[in-house]
Amino acid sequence: MAPVDLDIGCRCGRFGAVLKDVSPRMGSHVQCHCTDCQTAARVLGAEEQLLPRGGSDIFQTTPAHLQITKGEEHLACLRLSPKGLMRWYAGCCDTPLFNCLPHTKLAFVGIWVPAMQGAEVAKAIGKVIAVVRTQDAPMGAERLRDYGFNRAGFQVLARHFSALMRGQVKQTPLFDTAGAPVVTPRVLTKEERKSATP
Ligand SMILES: [Zn+2]
Ligand SMILES: [Zn+2]
Repeated sequence: MAPVDLDIGCRCGRFGAVLKDVSPRMGSHVQCHCTDCQTAARVLGAEEQLLPRGGSDIFQTTPAHLQITKGEEHLACLRLSPKGLMRWYAGCCDTPLFNCLPHTKLAFVGIWVPAMQGAEVAKAIGKVIAVVRTQDAPMGAERLRDYGFNRAGFQVLARHFSALMRGQVKQTPLFDTAGAPVVTPRVLTKEERKSATP
């Protein structure tokens, strides 16, 4: 299918963004069941947006495709520890939005699929190419197995090098031109983290 622009929105509608030119070729649809991703969703009270066995449904792509369209003042960022991933969310209603590294050296962003809107989402992001960390999934009826970890990693690097060729590595709405995050992340205390860990 031809690439489409997908709206991204929070649960209350105050925050909006758009992911441009989405197709299964411009990103990787992955599902992560790791304890950290589950913990982050619990901190935000977003467990109902997890997959049946606690997985996070993520579309990995390059941040140059991402634009914030409204409610930028609601953009907030969470880290489970001082060295953890940056987990961006809409502070108005605690909707998970994006994951990225704490710097702009790798052209990488993971978009929270439940925040993507419209009938075209499933077709635009394509089938799941990797399921990871199923050993961390809570018990449940659905049978899970890991696959695609290396493939997803390779695709992250391939997209990074293609962004490098286009001079787009540092193009992101989540960091300023000096490479600092646009909002100061909230780092969980050890106690906060422990009480949210499943
Ligand atoms: Zn909101
Ligand atoms: Zn994870």
